[in-house]
Amino acid sequence: CGVFGVVGVADAANFVALGLHALQHRGQEAGGIVSHCPEDGFNNARRFGYVRDNFTSQSLMKTLPGPLAIGHVRYSTAGSKGAAIRDVQPFFGEFSMGGAAIAHNGNITNAEALRKELIERGSIFQSSSDSECIIHLMARSLQRNIPERMEDALRRVEGAFSVVAMTRTKLIGVRDPLGVRPLVLGKVGDGWALSSETCALDIIGAEFVREIEPGEMVVITAEGGVESLFPFRKQDSKFCIFEHVYFSRPDSIIGGRSVYETRRQIGVELAREAPVEADLVCPVPDSGTPAAIGFAAESGIPFGLGITRNQYMGRTFIEPTEQIRNMGVRLKLNVNRALIKDKRVILVDDSVVRGTTSRKIKEMILDAGAKEVHFRIASPPTAWPCFYGVDTPQREKLLAATMSEEEMCQHLAVDSLKFISLNGLYRAVGEGDGRNSACPQYCDACFSGEYPVAPTDMLQKGFKL
Ligand code: 5GP
Ligand code: SF4
Ligand code: MG
Repeated sequence: CGVFGVVGVADAANFVALGLHALQHRGQEAGGIVSHCPEDGFNNARRFGYVRDNFTSQSLMKTLPGPLAIGHVRYSTAGSKGAAIRDVQPFFGEFSMGGAAIAHNGNITNAEALRKELIERGSIFQSSSDSECIIHLMARSLQRNIPERMEDALRRVEGAFSVVAMTRTKLIGVRDPLGVRPLVLGKVGDGWALSSETCALDIIGAEFVREIEPGEMVVITAEGGVESLFPFRKQDSKFCIFEHVYFSRPDSIIGGRSVYETRRQIGVELAREAPVEADLVCPVPDSGTPAAIGFAAESGIPFGLGITRNQYMGRTFIEPTEQIRNMGVRLKLNVNRALIKDKRVILVDDSVVRGTTSRKIKEMILDAGAKEVHFRIASPPTAWPCFYGVDTPQREKLLAATMSEEEMCQHLAVDSLKFISLNGLYRAVGEGDGRNSACPQYCDACFSGEYPVAPTDMLQKGFKL
């Protein structure tokens, strides 16, 4: 998911709509905005579909007045899949000291345990979303102001959370102690912005100030500026390494590094680790493109756009049902026959999850007359599900959970298949000495099976580490 918030500018909701539009890659199912103005109190709008199809209407935006607003784009990982407007964030709660709204990116790993406990104690849940727990925990807190109630609530929550919240006067941002999901601070005119990624600061002309630290809470007012607190026990940070590979936009900056440059560097590492003789390096668009550029540069093999993506489709993987995903590949990608014919082709993609994309693409490339097909993958084999906010399927559906690299190669019926090593990936993100196996610098659980936070709910349901 993507979260965005602004305080201290006129018609803040318009800025939030733009910010969410730039974060649309993080979630395409639905979006929502809550705003506040002194005369009219809180207002909200939650809609299915793209930001551009909803939050551009003047009649809707007029209902979201005020200098303070937050928003969310949704990509369902926890809770019900598919259509339920009650699951669309931000969530809102009314407390004795006034209202508050929250938008959450990440996944709470003990949400089911918390929900059960809260329902037994009288909480009335409105949605199936894990994020709603935060509002109910805040309602039960005895603290006298909302930021302190949030601290109380978030100390009970396990897993990944980057939260943007608002009261009548304050914009609040929090990152979990491991800092699994990103969150950045920007300055816009006399006001401030919080965003999942820097690309959404660019679109509103905000200046990137800094990242919110793992375990940090910022409480921001238009007049008083940014107050920084560290309410949690300090832990080693575990930023999601897959944000670098796939999830973030290539024009964002993470940890002082350009995401594009990191992806290009992954391609360079891949070409060193798994060279192969061929005539063409071709990305699987769009997510494989920067790595393919790096692979071509390092190997000296020409780069070419052998596959064209229909820009009017969403991301296949992000569509929540398997049926839609299966159709998606052909609706979305087509092969440039003139370029592919009679060539030995290296296809570069960011990841293999179920293997459905790779299988279909290989068939299309062979149909177009390619002589050989070699897959090079910009992440290690995805052998474990993510419980921290990326929607990977159950373990059994992951190709790499049940097959070795060689078996996957046979299964996909390609001439060769190689994944970047975990160490190679760490080098590409700027860790020159590779992965520190005693204390990994990132979360890489979907590749290593080493989960930095125990997935409490899943263990309860019988998931085996
Ligand atoms: P597969 O067809 O192997 O199940 O999916 C792999 C493709 O899904 C890749 O091309 C990748 O770009 C895309 N993809 C989209 N969203 C995600 C995601 O959240 N996780 C992963 N691993 N891949 C995703
Ligand atoms: Fe990121 Fe993978 Fe960790 Fe999930 S399991 S947070 S996708 S690195
Ligand atoms: Mg892709």
